[in-house]
Order: sequence, then C-alpha cells, then structure tokens
Amino acid sequence: MRELVCIVCPKGCTMHIEQENDGYKVSGNTCKRGAQFAISEMTEPKRTICTTVRTVFPQTPVLPVRVSAEIPKDKIFDVMHEINSVVLEKPVSRGDVILKNVLNLGADIIATSDLLRQIET
Ligand code: SF4
Repeated sequence: MRELVCIVCPKGCTMHIEQENDGYKVSGNTCKRGAQFAISEMTEPKRTICTTVRTVFPQTPVLPVRVSAEIPKDKIFDVMHEINSVVLEKPVSRGDVILKNVLNLGADIIATSDLLRQIET
C-alpha cells in the first residue's frame, strides 16, 4: 500500500493506493480527480512547470513562463535545462510560445506575462 497526499486541489486529501489484480484501488480521496491523480502517480507521474526565462532587457531581466500541458515528472530537469538556455531578445506577449513542443513532449513553453510589452525597444 502506498500513501499519497493529493495535490490536485488545496484540500490535500490523504489517499491510500493498493495494487489489485491488474489495477489500483484508491481510498481516502474525496472526488474522482484524486483517484485519477493517484493512478497517474502510480503509472505515469506528470507535473506542470511554472518558472522564468532570462531576457536581454535590464528593466525586466526575467519573464514568467509555464508549460502548456503536464509533462512526465522524470523530464522536469531536462525541460528546465531547455528553458534555462533561452534568452528572450524581443518583447513577447502573454500566451506567446517561447519553445515549441519542448523535447517532443507535446507541450510548449509559453509566456504568462505582458511585462515585456511595456518596454520601448
Ligand atoms: S481528492 Fe479531490 S477534493 Fe481531495 S485533494 Fe484531491 S482533488 Fe481535492
């Protein structure tokens, strides 16, 4: 049996997961999303990333970004390496794609701020 705290919402239910024949039995969850998260954690854990990329603009040296979809947990460091290699040289808007289909994972890195739009170039 494995104990796991659900991170899908702030309630943070403590769940218990037992392997059963060809699947898993989840208890302690308050809703279906918790059970889905628990099974995903046992089979193919995924995470989202919210971070920043560097820019050439002294007024805004870093810009917030996030992944457009969850990525495999074991790829987080590889994706962060790709993100850390970016230096924005042109203003971008919120929602603009900074890195398309990063590492062929089916997720883009997108800007989450319009801060660079306020800069006169
Ligand atoms: S099981 Fe449902 S209610 Fe409980 S933390 Fe997860 S998402 Fe929230």
